[in-house]
Amino acid sequence: MISLQPYNSFQVKSHCDSLTQITSVQQLEELCRLTNDDVHILGGGSNSLFVNNPGAVWLIDIKHVEVVKEREEYQLVRFGAGEEWHDVVKYAVANNLGGIENLALIPGKTGAGPIQNIGAYGVELKDVLQSVSVVERSTGNRLEYHASACAFGYRNSKFKQEWKGKYIIDSIVLKLTKADYHTVNTSYGAIRKQIGKQDAVTIQDVFDAVVSIRSSKLPDPKVIGNGGSFFKNPIVNLDVYHQLISAFPEAPSYQVDEEHKKIPAGWLIDQAGWKGKTIGNVGCYEKQALVIINTGDATGQEVLEFSAMVQESVADTFGILLEREINVV
Ligand SMILES: Cc1cc2nc3c(=O)[nH]c(=O)nc-3n(C[C@H](O)[C@H](O)[C@H](O)COP(=O)(O)OP(=O)(O)OC[C@H]3O[C@@H](n4cnc5c(N)ncnc54)[C@H](O)[C@@H]3O)c2cc1C
Repeated sequence: MISLQPYNSFQVKSHCDSLTQITSVQQLEELCRLTNDDVHILGGGSNSLFVNNPGAVWLIDIKHVEVVKEREEYQLVRFGAGEEWHDVVKYAVANNLGGIENLALIPGKTGAGPIQNIGAYGVELKDVLQSVSVVERSTGNRLEYHASACAFGYRNSKFKQEWKGKYIIDSIVLKLTKADYHTVNTSYGAIRKQIGKQDAVTIQDVFDAVVSIRSSKLPDPKVIGNGGSFFKNPIVNLDVYHQLISAFPEAPSYQVDEEHKKIPAGWLIDQAGWKGKTIGNVGCYEKQALVIINTGDATGQEVLEFSAMVQESVADTFGILLEREINVV
C-alpha cells in the first residue's frame, strides 16, 4: 500500500495499491496497450478528494515545452501534461506572451486543465487552448483534438462527460498572443482595484495582481489542506432567480445568458451560516466559505460528510442544490 497523502491537496490520509509515475508519451502508450485494468489518473491531486482506495494510480509526469508555430501576432506552444500549471503561466509571462496571466497560481498539473476547463478572473483555459493531445486508454493510440471538439463549458468538458475515462491527456497546445497584440483582461473589479489607475497595464501587472489577490484570500494547500472551490457556482433559470431575489434582495448574481443567472456559491454557503464553521477536523475557510478545509487529520469521508451537510443546508435555505466541483475518488 502506498500513501496518497503527499499527492492530494486536501492532505487526507489515503492509500492506493500501486503508483506508477509516467514520464513520457511512449511509456503511457505502452502501459495502455499492456493492461486494461482500471486505473486512476492523477495529476497534482488538487481537485481530488480521496475517499476510497483507488487501486492502481498512474501519476502523469510528462514534461516538455516546445514552440510549435510562430507568427507575428502569436505563438503556439505545446506543454507536457506533467508541467505545473503555474510554471506554464510563469513561462508565458516571462516570454511576454499573453492569454493566461489571469490563471496564475491555480494549483495542479497542465494535463488536468482541460478536464474542468480551469478558469479564474474572467478567463477560461478554452479561451487560449488550441488543441489537446490524448492517448486512448483502451488502445494506446494517440490522437489530437482541436479545442472546439471538447465541448468546453463552465468547469466542464467532454472529458468529464462522454469521454470520462476514455483518454489520458499527454500535452496541450496553447495559442499565446505576443504582448504588442494582446489586450489584457482586467474586467474583474478585484484586479482593477489591485492595479490602480495605471495607464498602460502589462501582462506582468495582471499576473502580479492575480498572485497578490489569490495569496491573500485563498489558503495555501501546503499549509491548510483544501481543494479550492468545493462546489460550482450554481446557474439557475429566471424563475429560481426571482424566487431567490424576492426572499433575499441582496443576493449577488451574474448574467449568464438571457434565461440564466449565476449565483456565487460562496455567498449561499456564507448566508446559510457556514463561513468559518468547523465540525471535527473539517471546516469552511474563514475568508472564503466555498473552500472546505482539512483543519487537522480529516479523512476523505469526513470531508465528504461535511460537504453533504453544507449542501443540504444550502438546499433547505435557498432551494438550490450545489453541484460538486471536486472529484470524489
Ligand atoms: C487552493 C486552490 C485553488 C484553486 N483555484 C482554482 C481556480 O481558480 N480555478 C479552477 O478552475 N480550479 C481551481 N482549483 C482546482 C484545481 O487547481 C484545478 O482543477 C486543477 O486543474 C487540478 O489539477 P490537478 O493536476 O491537481 O488535478 P487532479 O486533482 O490530479 O485531477 C483532477 C481530475 O482530472 C483527471 N486528470 C488529471 N490529469 C489528467 C490527465 N493528464 N489526463 C486525463 N485525466 C486527468 C483526474 O483523474 C481527476 O478526475 C483550485 C484548487 C486549489 C487547491
